[in-house]
Amino acid sequence: MRHIAIIGSGPAGYYTAEAAQKHWGDDVRVDVFDMLPVPYGLIRTGVAPDHQSIKGVSRRYEKVALTDNVRFVGNITIGQDISVSELQDLYDAVVLATGAPNDRKLGMSGEDLGNVFGSAAFVGWYNGHPQFADLAPDLSGKHAVVIGMGNVALDVARILAKTEAEFAGSDIVAHALEALMASNIETITILGRRGPHQIMMTPKELGELGSLDRASPRVDPDDLPDEAEDVILEPGLRKSVAQLRSFAAIPEDIHAEKPVEVEFDMFTSPKSLNGDGKVQTVEIERTEVEAGRAVGTGETYTVPADIVVSCIGYRTSPIPGIPFDERAGRFANDEGRILPGIYCVGWARRGPSGTIGTNRPDGYSLIEKIAEDMDDGTLGKAAKQGREAFDALAVKRDLDIVTFQDWKKIEEAETAAARDGAPREKFVDVEAMIRALG
Ligand code: NAP
Repeated sequence: MRHIAIIGSGPAGYYTAEAAQKHWGDDVRVDVFDMLPVPYGLIRTGVAPDHQSIKGVSRRYEKVALTDNVRFVGNITIGQDISVSELQDLYDAVVLATGAPNDRKLGMSGEDLGNVFGSAAFVGWYNGHPQFADLAPDLSGKHAVVIGMGNVALDVARILAKTEAEFAGSDIVAHALEALMASNIETITILGRRGPHQIMMTPKELGELGSLDRASPRVDPDDLPDEAEDVILEPGLRKSVAQLRSFAAIPEDIHAEKPVEVEFDMFTSPKSLNGDGKVQTVEIERTEVEAGRAVGTGETYTVPADIVVSCIGYRTSPIPGIPFDERAGRFANDEGRILPGIYCVGWARRGPSGTIGTNRPDGYSLIEKIAEDMDDGTLGKAAKQGREAFDALAVKRDLDIVTFQDWKKIEEAETAAARDGAPREKFVDVEAMIRALG
């Protein structure tokens, strides 16, 4: 029997568990740990609440979780309740599927002003992550600035722009819906330091911006390169650029009909955030793209900003004693191998890129590596004790483990509390989740 501990119950964690199950069948026991009492990581707290079809993938993870050889061990914080080296003593392989939960910093003055948020915090707030439920962004001003031109920036801009009716069927948490419906925001400026040919936004997600009830997207036609130049682009990016072209062609009378504008400000790099205690403006430098890189032109200007959300990427949380690549913001690894017996997968391995589905081949390929290491003796011959030994330790330490069956009770209570048409009303603090267990 082989024993594997996976830390993190998001997509990377569950695809890896699924792959282990496929590889070893009944000859493996996998424990999937999470610091929260609820599973699924980014599916629950990262994927936008109005993208329910993407969240549907959790049904696949549930199938894995409900088998005898995989189990969910929630409410356990690695490094606090039990260390990685202790897990190594108990399991043949320890897989870090901890994602990249920390915001990359802008690294400029004013970043610590009030009402400036990184996307991990802001997305966590509207998705009910217990760590960010109390964020309380002030939406009373007219101008929001979103920094970055990736899909997270799009999510944030769209969530700021939607009407209550457009949230029907979503699982946006009540505190966020209430705050968004009282919002005074009229302009959402998306700042991109490069141009249309370098956007990271995907066509479908970009297209959603074109059909919002009260908001219209605005692209300056002067920012667009000659259409003939689009032929060199790969098909997905070409479609995204075509979306930008269609936004640039929206007539003024259509803009005038909508009270909110989502404005793309490209070739603009933020230099500083300014305000008195709370952010009021962003100072920006115009850029040109040279050999694919944004280069400042020296020309600066200022845009009003009552709230700033920077969506410029994420970093993995380092763990003492585990090699970390500071520059890339993820564990130092060779195709998922960190140290003998310690592995990483998903964003913790490759950094914050790709869709949910990208984690599937990632998980499967890691299990092949672990199997190779088991076969060639790298992981030692002595059988580890696995979950039984962990359970004994948990009793000794009086750890309050939440099982998958417990999670199903929490889920039931969330479903019962849902407003009309919504799939669930999430608990946004850990104590409330535990109370739901009775
Ligand atoms: P991303 O796609 O890497 O985009 C990050 C953006 O931030 C880029 O436009 C980047 O510009 C910009 N940026 C980085 N550093 C900057 C700086 N110092 N100043 C100004 N701009 C800066 O990352 P993401 O949006 O966080 O998304 C993460 C991953 O999740 C992506 O793979 C994304 O597709 C995926 N995702 C998918 C969905 C979906 O499919 N619906 C939804 C959300 C997220 P440069 O390109 O110039 O560096």
